[in-house]
Amino acid sequence: MTRILVLGGTGDALKLARRLKSEDIYSLAGLGKIPDDLVCHVRVGGFGGTEGLVRFLKDERIGLIVDATHPYAAQMSANAASAGRIAAVACWALRRSPWEPRAEDDWRFVCDWNEVRAALTPFARPLFTLGREPLAHLDEIPAHQYWTIRCLDAHPGTEQARIIGARGPFTLEGERALFEENRFDVIVSKNSGGAATEAKLDVARERGLPIVMLRRPSLPDVERIFETTDALLAALETLRIENDARMIRPGS
Ligand code: NAP
Repeated sequence: MTRILVLGGTGDALKLARRLKSEDIYSLAGLGKIPDDLVCHVRVGGFGGTEGLVRFLKDERIGLIVDATHPYAAQMSANAASAGRIAAVACWALRRSPWEPRAEDDWRFVCDWNEVRAALTPFARPLFTLGREPLAHLDEIPAHQYWTIRCLDAHPGTEQARIIGARGPFTLEGERALFEENRFDVIVSKNSGGAATEAKLDVARERGLPIVMLRRPSLPDVERIFETTDALLAALETLRIENDARMIRPGS
C-alpha cells in the first residue's frame, strides 16, 4: 500500500481528493472551505516548513506526495519537492497549463507588485483578481484610481476601493454583468490556467481591455508532472494496481 499525501487548495485538488482511499491524506493550508465529505483524512494548516514536512512524511509513513497546490503557491511546492528528496518520498505535481494570449489580446506581463503598480499608472478602474495581496496596499491607491478587488472573502471597502468576496467558477454572463456595472478599464490577473476563472479573459477581449498578467513563479523539479487531473488519476490507478500485484507476489 502506498499512502498518498495530496497538497491541495484548488478545485482540481479537491477532484483528486474525492478519489483518495481512507488511508490517504488531503492537506489544506486552511484559507478556504474545508470539505467534510471525503473518504480520506483531511488535515489543515502548515507543516512547519520543509523540516516539519519531512517529519510528517516519516511519522505518517507517506509513500507519495502529490503537489496539487495552485501554480502560485510556490513556497509549498518548493517545500514539498525538497522534503520529498530528504525523506526519499517521490513527489508528483499537478501543474495545469497557463493561459496563452490570442493575437487580439493586450497582455502586459509583470513580475511583482511594484511592476503591477507601475503598469496600472495610466488606468483608473482596475479589477484585481490576484487574491488577497492588493488588500495590503489599500493605502497606496493613487488619487485617480478606484480599485475593485475580488478575493475569496469579503472585506469592508474604502472610499477608493470595493472588495468583492467570491469564489469561482465564474460564468461568462456573470463576468459580463460585473464588467458592465463597474466599467473596468484594465484587469490584473494571475496566469492560473484552467476554465474556472477564464471567463474574465473572454470579457476583457470582447471589451478590448488590457490585462496586467503576473508571471508564474518558477516551480521545482519533481519526479513526474501532470497537466490534468485525469492523467494524474490514471497514473495513481496504475501505481495502485502495481502495488496490489506486488502484495500478491511478494519479492517480484
Ligand atoms: P504558499 O505561499 O506556497 O505557502 C505558504 C505556507 O502555507 C506553506 O509554506 C505551508 O506552511 C502552508 N501551506 C500552503 N499550502 C498548504 C497545504 N496544501 N497544506 C498545508 N500547508 C500549506 O501558499 P499560498 O500561495 O499562500 O496558498 C495557500 C493555499 O491556497 C494553497 O493550498 C494553495 O493551493 C491555495 N491557493 C493559492 C492560490 C494563490 O494564488 N497563491 C490560489 C488559489 C488557491 P508550512 O511552511 O508551515 O508548511
